[in-house]
Amino acid sequence: MPMYNFKCACGLRLERLTTETSIICPNCSGVAQRDSVNLISPVVAGGTPAEDIDKTVGRDADKRWGKYNDRFLDKKKAREDSGQHAMSAMPTPDGKVHYTPISKEDITQRKELTKVLEGSKVLSDL
Ligand SMILES: [Zn+2]
Repeated sequence: MPMYNFKCACGLRLERLTTETSIICPNCSGVAQRDSVNLISPVVAGGTPAEDIDKTVGRDADKRWGKYNDRFLDKKKAREDSGQHAMSAMPTPDGKVHYTPISKEDITQRKELTKVLEGSKVLSDL
């Protein structure tokens, strides 16, 4: 796939590895038209395209860290509210995670259930 130069009405010039003849401008959300084929790799040439990649990676990382931080704070709040440390994580339809405390009784029950299941596995393997 060739690297093309794109030019937007807002003045932004950028390079993309695509067969599309137009792309959405990351600067103004307008339509940037394909201008010419770029024969030099942007990684080798450096300059603006690398900056575009950095910005894109940066935004994606911010989004991911934002999610991570949100979950961390949700879990911290659930721990503070309940006074319990062990939490059960349940994904919600909106892409978040709902934390519910696991009591010491629950932990004991889970351990016993695990023992029973492991025991039955051992027996069924015989
Ligand atoms: Zn633009």
